[in-house]
Amino acid sequence: MDKKKLGQSLRNEFPIFKNPLVYLDSAASAQKPKYVIDAMTNHQMNDYANVHRGAYDLSARSTNLYESARVKVANFLGSSIKPHQVIFTRGTTEGLNILASGLAQTVLTESSRIVIPMLEHHSNFVPWQQAALHKNCELAYIHLQGNQYKLNIDEAAKLITKSTQVVSFAHMGHVLGQINPIEKLIDLAKNVNALAIVDCAQSVTCLNQDLFSIGADAFVFSGHKIFGPTGIGVLVLSDDLANRLPPLIFGGGMVSAVTEQESQWASSPAKFEAGTPPITQAVGLTAALEWYEELGGKEMVHKHSAHLANLFVNGLKKNKKIEFFSPDTGHETIVSFRHKDMHAHDLSTVFDAHNIAVRSGHHCAWPLIKFLNVDSLCRASFSVYNDTDDVDFSLEILKNASLF
Ligand code: PMP
Repeated sequence: MDKKKLGQSLRNEFPIFKNPLVYLDSAASAQKPKYVIDAMTNHQMNDYANVHRGAYDLSARSTNLYESARVKVANFLGSSIKPHQVIFTRGTTEGLNILASGLAQTVLTESSRIVIPMLEHHSNFVPWQQAALHKNCELAYIHLQGNQYKLNIDEAAKLITKSTQVVSFAHMGHVLGQINPIEKLIDLAKNVNALAIVDCAQSVTCLNQDLFSIGADAFVFSGHKIFGPTGIGVLVLSDDLANRLPPLIFGGGMVSAVTEQESQWASSPAKFEAGTPPITQAVGLTAALEWYEELGGKEMVHKHSAHLANLFVNGLKKNKKIEFFSPDTGHETIVSFRHKDMHAHDLSTVFDAHNIAVRSGHHCAWPLIKFLNVDSLCRASFSVYNDTDDVDFSLEILKNASLF
């Protein structure tokens, strides 16, 4: 692979951009480079068989590729992560469900408290809500600091007390684009011996993920947000938690012994990977990480995407009809906004008429949307294949949106 450029010159590597498209929805899912598509096609055409099951060469090759993906992910995440701590799931959502359901069975009691920010994605919200309902324990929320679109850390410090067993939070917000002070939150959790869980669905493409080195107990992300395929995600579990948590899904491949009366679980990661795993998707994820590393690393991706988001916010500020919802400093890669005279869905339809894809709606964050006192928002998210032309064009469309 050649060293890559960002923006328009990179779009040649993505088949989807053969047609006019300004894609500002990478926070929902990133587009796929041909490198990833080819790797998956090649696996299906030449190396495909089920894994960990066949004694024949083809199955051994496929198993090798699947297990190499685990090593690739661990290396990508940082030196504190070992391959056996990488569990393949269907995505962020499944990882968080494994955690919430497993902790409800082992750690949580009636006197426990779970602490989460109220602005979380439903996938880091509903599983904890269900766990709390099931155990009849408390679920407490960290709110935003005034209208600054940042987490209120003073409130977090008051909530995370001795009865707290779990603190679970996103590294980067999927609506406001804020970066949460995860070191501080992890420290607060560790001070009271609570588990610290980090949702890295948004941060995986642009922030450091060596999270065991700063004390996290578990973290999760989805392959499709980092230019890989859907159907595969990663749950990284500390050895201690991997031993203590029961599996969420039962079946083949996750047992060490089965009799008519009972079963014993294999050790992690197999324990959490029941059934035929996402094999070709793992090959795709390996390719995605290879491709991504060639780009120049997280810092460069973050800088490029945040720069575009910043330009976009500066343009929004000049438009009296627009209200935007992001922290004052650091607009990161995600910007949510609304038009004072138009519903977000209408606005996104206007964008769509000009081949601009933005997300509109409640963003799987109903409690946050209610807190912001809006019924829906538009969200633009910037990535490696976007450039300043995309920013200028979308601002231009926005300027005249109510005339269309
Ligand atoms: N958490 C965050 C912060 C997200 O942005 C998303 C996806 N939008 C998820 C969790 C859920 O990811 P998935 O749908 O891939 O499971």
